[in-house]
Amino acid sequence: MTAIPDITLNNGQQIPQLGFGVFLVKPQDTVAAVSAALQAGYRHIDTAEMYGNEKEVGEAIRQSGLPRHEIYVTSKLSNDAHRPDDTRRAFDESLKTLGLDYLDLFLIHWPLPTRYDGDYVSTWSVLTEFYRDGRARSIGVSNFQPRHLRRLHGESEIIPAVDQIEVNPYLTQDELRIFCAEHQIAVEAWSPLGRGHVLADPTIEAIARRAAKTPAQVVLRWHLQRGDIVFPKSITPGRIRENIDIFDFGLSAAEVEAISALNRNERTGPDPDTFDAI
Ligand code: NAD
Repeated sequence: MTAIPDITLNNGQQIPQLGFGVFLVKPQDTVAAVSAALQAGYRHIDTAEMYGNEKEVGEAIRQSGLPRHEIYVTSKLSNDAHRPDDTRRAFDESLKTLGLDYLDLFLIHWPLPTRYDGDYVSTWSVLTEFYRDGRARSIGVSNFQPRHLRRLHGESEIIPAVDQIEVNPYLTQDELRIFCAEHQIAVEAWSPLGRGHVLADPTIEAIARRAAKTPAQVVLRWHLQRGDIVFPKSITPGRIRENIDIFDFGLSAAEVEAISALNRNERTGPDPDTFDAI
């Protein structure tokens, strides 16, 4: 079985650096996709209440017969549940839907600075309750910009273990990643393959030919060598296996640099400063 490295978070907990994402995986496809991932050796699943497939993620975990402690499970707070009582209810509901009695990681999915009077600090304070009572082994945020993180830093004793943000070769997020490194916040790179659209880049294709690997494998390797945590998504068993088969080669420092130089500050997803969908 492939040895996936762990990253140690700021609270001492360990997270597998490569996982499996299930955004836009339909509920009817989720058990098969997660089962294929667990079969291929993935031990980290990234879901969210808003993905609508927590029930099926839990089902696949149970069907695998693997002990709970061997699988790292992340879920995220729905955007419509930022008010403290709603946050408590939503967390209980996520555990119930997944059929688990604890989560390895629970995140505020979006900061929603233009909603709830911009008060993601109260929401964060409720997540610290789940951390303290042990039902969330780690807590973190997603799509937080430096200014949002700075506020949590100033107003809470517990700092996020991770910030899950959009990162790919066309959006390298250097400034935010430096901020996170300086504040001991691990970076999780969502849509690590840019949802597929970076894979035809000539620089990435050339490096893939040199390494005798696929463009997807090269891009995932680039993320790992920069130190970020990734969880590519696919429902195709061959690609699920391909995306974990990245521990038998390396990129040179010059190749990592060449891929980083493709940055265009181009998002595929919404801007966290203005995104307000609930
Ligand atoms: P991704 O970058 O992982 O790309 C997935 C797409 O790339 C697939 O649908 C497929 O079309 C293609 N692909 C996958 N493997 C391939 C391969 N080997 N060769 C060629 N094409 C391949 O995109 P994603 O699903 O948006 O992101 C991954 C995960 O990140 C999500 O499933 C979710 O868990 C997380 N995420 C989080 C947020 C957030 O706001 N926190 C937002 C988006 C995604």
